[in-house]
Order: sequence, then structure tokens, then C-alpha cells
Amino acid sequence: MRIYVDNAATTKISDEVAKEMISCIKEIPGNPSSIYAEGREAKKAVETAREKVAKAIGASPREIYFTGSGTEADNWAIRSTAKAYADKGKHIITTAVEHHAVLHTCQDLEKQGWEVTYLPVDKYGRVAAEDVERAIRPDTVLVSVMFANNEIGTIMPIREIGAICRERKVIFHTDAVQAVGMIEIDVNELNIDMLSLTAHKFHGPKGVGALYVRQGVKLTPFITGGAQERGKRAATENVPGIVGLGKAIELATADIHGKQKQLTELRDYYIKQVLDKVPYAWLNGHPSERLPGNTNISFRFIEGEGMLLRLDMKGISASSGSACTSGSLDPSHVLLAIGLKHEDAHGSLRVTFDTSNTKEQADAIADALAEIVPLLRSMSPLYEDFVKNNKED
Ligand SMILES: *Cc1c(COP(=O)(O)O)cnc(C)c1O
Repeated sequence: MRIYVDNAATTKISDEVAKEMISCIKEIPGNPSSIYAEGREAKKAVETAREKVAKAIGASPREIYFTGSGTEADNWAIRSTAKAYADKGKHIITTAVEHHAVLHTCQDLEKQGWEVTYLPVDKYGRVAAEDVERAIRPDTVLVSVMFANNEIGTIMPIREIGAICRERKVIFHTDAVQAVGMIEIDVNELNIDMLSLTAHKFHGPKGVGALYVRQGVKLTPFITGGAQERGKRAATENVPGIVGLGKAIELATADIHGKQKQLTELRDYYIKQVLDKVPYAWLNGHPSERLPGNTNISFRFIEGEGMLLRLDMKGISASSGSACTSGSLDPSHVLLAIGLKHEDAHGSLRVTFDTSNTKEQADAIADALAEIVPLLRSMSPLYEDFVKNNKED
């Protein structure tokens, strides 16, 4: 049995969700836009899912728009707000540690004449709410700060930022892809105006997400065509995907406290095991203000991909903040933003648990690392130099 601990990348679809999707595929063949019985049934399935998504974040169903992914929701939120409020100004505030779905969208807008402030973060990866406040200008139209970071798990001060944005009358978008189903979210209590989520991060299907848009916030169409999604996102709905999203978010938000407790215990147990067994290693991200299932540990003198390959051979699927996994040679922008040196940013390992993972699995990973890390270090010229220099001291 393999050990899957890359739940921040994607999660396995739950049996209950799969079952509901299969029955939808087989039994609900209609197009939601058709007025006859099959169409009405498909429409009903979509609207039931919309109610479930809305309920999970304290929104109203008419504030939920289905999308093809979390990436699309991020793109839509940012591009729509930029365009719809261009007469007010062309300044956007975000952070240096956002997902590329946000960062690359902001960079694209910069090329088209918008100005973007990328706020720095502290050594734990947290942006300061006061920095957000200071960065707001009369021409600022949007603040986009992720709820929790996908690499290092750090939770942002969303409540404080929401309050500031509300007071300064600036639209607040949050990429909550990693937070939904892990942290309780009420968009009204937190003063969130727009929120992105995606089903496959909480045991739903891949390729379906949603954007929450507060009533009264201007939204421009993302895909033009038919009248689906109130004319804002044309295309025949992904009915089975949407049904799966609805079921998955209902399950994911049913017992958040129980899940938090279980995962936090497992997470902290694993971190302690690894740091006890492997020298020259440290935890990235905030020690307590972090996602319950997230760990990100750096090992000095190590290349992340070497570690991943050897873990894979031992049946362990994890992720690293390093080159090969992201398909580029640059080290993680998140690890650089929290102040890691380039060489250290290459040697990190992200292990993200879900509730099916066990203490025995955490032990197995820690034991594997206790074997793999010294082996890789024994082949590293950096480590050799380090040992030599330490002896001379
Ligand atoms: C996974 C992820 C996304 C992208 O979602 P997709 O549905 O895979 O496009 C965006 N933001 C964060 C923080 C993520 O973890």
C-alpha cells in the first residue's frame, strides 16, 4: 500500500462523492437550460449543489458562480474587478506568496497598464494587516490575499484584512482553495467580497470550482455565450462535476473541528519525529497558524527531487518546493519570500495529510527520511565542505 501525503496538490475523491456523481451521470442526462422534465431535473441538481456551496461559506446561493477550477475562479475575480472598476483606479494589492493563478494574473494585468503591489511576508509567510492598510491608495480597487498558503500552510490574518478593506471600501478577494473544508469560513463575518474554491482539494472531482461574489460587487462575464450562470459564465454546466462539488463541500464542512484536531495531532507528531531524527532540518511556515494537515520541512544540503524520487521508490508520494515538480528551475517563490537561501529552498519536502493518513504512516515517512537524507548528504559536495569546515573550527 502506497502512502499518499500530497493532499495539498490534490485529494482522492471520496466514495460518497463518486457514487453521487456516477448516479448523476447515469440518471440525469438533461441540459439544465432545457425547459422539459430532463432539463428541469438537471437544473435542480445544479441549484441544489449551489445551495450547498453557499451554505458551506455563509453565502447566499445567488452569490455562487460555478467555474472550471480554482485557477479560473482566481482569474475571474481579479480580471473582472480590474475591468469593472477601472474608472475608480488601476491599483491592485496582493502578496508575494500567492498561488501562480493569482500572481501570473496580476502580472498579466501589469502588462495591460494596471499597477500591482506585491506585499512582503514575515519569516512565517504571514502578511501584516497593517501593511495591507498602508498600501491602500485612492485608486486601489482590489486586495487579493490567500486564506492559507498551499506550500507552507500559513494562515493569513483574513479577519483583520477583511475589516480594513470594508472600512476603506476596497474589494477583498481571497483564494481560499486550501482553506475550504479545513477552516470555518463565514464570508459575512470575515468581510470577504470574493472567494475562490475548488472541489479536488477537498475530496471532490477535478476540474470544477466556484467563485463567491458578494451581492452588489460588479462582475463582468468571464466566458461569453449562452445565459448560464446568470449570463456571466456561458457554457453548458458540468452537471456531474457540480453535483460532486456540492456533495464534497457538504462532507468537508460537516466536522471541521474534529478534522482539525485529528490532523493537527498527526501533523505535529510527524514534525517532531522528523526533526528528532534528522539533523540540519527545520519547519517552514508558522508553527501554529498553519493548515492542520500541512508540513513543509527543509533539509540542508539536499536537492528536493532526489528526496522525492527515493521516497517514491519506498512507496511514498509527497511534494517538494523544488525545481522538477513545478517544471521550472526556479526554487519556490514562497520559500524565497520567507527568506530562505536559494540552495535551502531547493531542499524542502511538503507532506500534507488527510484524515485517512495514520501515525504509522507518519513514522514510516520519518524513518524513510532518516535513511534517505544522510545518504543524499553523503553524496553532496556542499555537505562535505560543511563537515570539513566544522572540523577545522
Ligand atoms: C490548487 C490551488 C489552486 C488551483 O486550483 P485548481 O482547481 O487546481 O486550478 C489555486 N490556489 C491555491 C492556493 C491552490 O492550492
